[in-house]
Amino acid sequence: MAKENVIDLRSDTVTKPTAAMRAAMAAAEVGDDVYGEDPTVNRLQQHAAEVFGREAAIFVPTGTMGNQIAIRLHTDHGQEVICEARAHILDWEMAMVSAFSGCVPRAVEGDRGALSWESIRRVIAPKIYYRAPTGLIALENTHNMAGGTVSPLEVLEEIWEGAREAKLPVHLDGARVFNAATALGVDVATLTRGFDTVMFCLSKGLGAPVGSMLVGSREVIERARVFRKALGGGMRQAGVLAAAGLIALEEMPKRLGEDHANARLLAEGIARCDAADIDPADVQTNIVIFTLKPGSGESGDAPALVGKLREHGVLASAIGPHAVRLVTHYDVSRQDCERAVSVLEQLLCCAAVQA
Ligand SMILES: *Cc1c(COP(=O)(O)O)cnc(C)c1O
Repeated sequence: MAKENVIDLRSDTVTKPTAAMRAAMAAAEVGDDVYGEDPTVNRLQQHAAEVFGREAAIFVPTGTMGNQIAIRLHTDHGQEVICEARAHILDWEMAMVSAFSGCVPRAVEGDRGALSWESIRRVIAPKIYYRAPTGLIALENTHNMAGGTVSPLEVLEEIWEGAREAKLPVHLDGARVFNAATALGVDVATLTRGFDTVMFCLSKGLGAPVGSMLVGSREVIERARVFRKALGGGMRQAGVLAAAGLIALEEMPKRLGEDHANARLLAEGIARCDAADIDPADVQTNIVIFTLKPGSGESGDAPALVGKLREHGVLASAIGPHAVRLVTHYDVSRQDCERAVSVLEQLLCCAAVQA
């Protein structure tokens, strides 16, 4: 299979910078960002702060660094961080909650990834000296491993109010918060207004080659700059990256609906297959997770199915022995997704194979 015909649905991180991004990168005005002298980085930070209705923002190389700086900012060693049971900060960030912030994650199972105030309230440590105190509540919207699921605004509002009363800071891992905002039809400033800090990725569905942002108050972002440097994230002429980030932030959110429609198309196709289990109504954004029914032969095995898909030029991820994840993004078209559906039908649908 020629490389250009491969349909890469492993993640929305695989997007390549657009022609406009590459042109902006080549032309970017730059300076030394450790001295605060990169005009393009400064412009990106200011624009991100405006989009989120906050005082300040800081450009970081990765979402992981943005999240871990935020956790460090809000906590003291020896505290607990309340998060969802399959949160990215818990499963995919190298135990840095403990290694860097000296905290223990207190994981709570959400409803398809969404925590409620009631589920959080129950695990807040009582204020007695022989219990490790709760230091932070960390949410994820959209929730990656739950399948790109969205926490509705009303649920968040209840959490913000409860956290305020409990005097606990709340951080958002908003790697895909623009997908959540698109699905809900609200702007990101509204959807995140009650969080103390928000991390979002330029490098996922927004298509930038590198980079994430942490937004918050001026005071918090000034402290974040110290931790970014400590982690080795003080970059120099980072304006070449920020130039792509500006286009990602300005141009790409408005097209995310296409990715969501393509994800729905994939889900509806998969739902027609006897060997797969998925409810298309669960697919709210750009992530599709389906499971293979036991006893459906070799295709009951997710890694084996992913191997077969690859032979047909469709790249997917096995995220468990029976679970497969597909992620749509701007580098896969409607037509690509239609072709992926026909390959999936060929491998998973008895009816299609007989026809
Ligand atoms: C991708 C992602 C991140 C950050 O990942 P990096 O690869 O470090 O940029 C954080 N949270 C979620 C939910 C993600 O999907």
